[in-house]
Parts: sequence; structure tokens; C-alpha cells
Amino acid sequence: MKRRTILWAAGILVLLMLTQCHWVFPPLRRADAVVTIKTTGYCACPKCSGWKFNWLGLPVSQNGKPKVIGETSGGHMARPGIIAVDPKVFSPGTKFYIPGYGWGIAEDIGGIRGRELDLYFFQHRNAANWGERTKRVKVWYLRD
Ligand SMILES: [Zn+2]
Repeated sequence: MKRRTILWAAGILVLLMLTQCHWVFPPLRRADAVVTIKTTGYCACPKCSGWKFNWLGLPVSQNGKPKVIGETSGGHMARPGIIAVDPKVFSPGTKFYIPGYGWGIAEDIGGIRGRELDLYFFQHRNAANWGERTKRVKVWYLRD
């Protein structure tokens, strides 16, 4: 009985880690910069991530290429904490702390241009609820 409880707890923990947790390791140094920047919520749905179903009913991106739902441009599964950026502004691997959202890491590219962050949410309703917010965001640039 007790063993079963532990198994359940472990299972729920793994599920939470995969879906909800901001699985970003916080940097151990002080932030390199603090910027005021526009942030927008998004999720893996067609509306937020700009994909559609083709005539076969398979998900494709806007250029018609097959699309894995929820996969970032970096090839990982999107999860809360994944941030889409313009790679000309922030290089992949840049870490952020966004008040009200938490830790995030630049990994996805999406369609955004310029000084803006797109914050990944697991559920569309949470992404829509975030909407567009201008935040004072702490930035840790990627260092070798
Ligand atoms: Zn959505």
C-alpha cells in the first residue's frame, strides 16, 4: 500500500516535470542586464504556433513542411519556460527571469521579429490569459 503511494507520487512528479514545471536551471550569477520588453503568451495550438492540418489531416507548418506539434525550432518538446525570440536579438540559450512567469530560456524562434519574448504556456487558456504584457525582465546572456 505504501509502496503504491510512493509510485503514484513519483508518477505525478514526472508528469508535472514534463508538463508544468519551468525546467530551467537558474543561473548562479547576477543578471547581465535588466530590460523592459514586450512579452506574449503562446502555446502549441495551431492558432498560437501558426500551423495547420493539410488535406491528409496531418499537421504542417506554414511552409508546408511536416510539423511535430509542440516541438520547438531547437528540436525539443516545448514546455513552460521555453521562450521564442528573434535570434538576431537574443541567441538561443539566453536565460530570462520574467516576473509573473518565472525562469525561461530562449530556445524557440517562431515568427517573431525584434525585441520581444514569446512565453510558452502548456494550455491555450493560460497563454491567452497572459496576452501581451510589458515586463522588466532580467537577462543572462549565454557565455562559454
Ligand atoms: Zn494556443
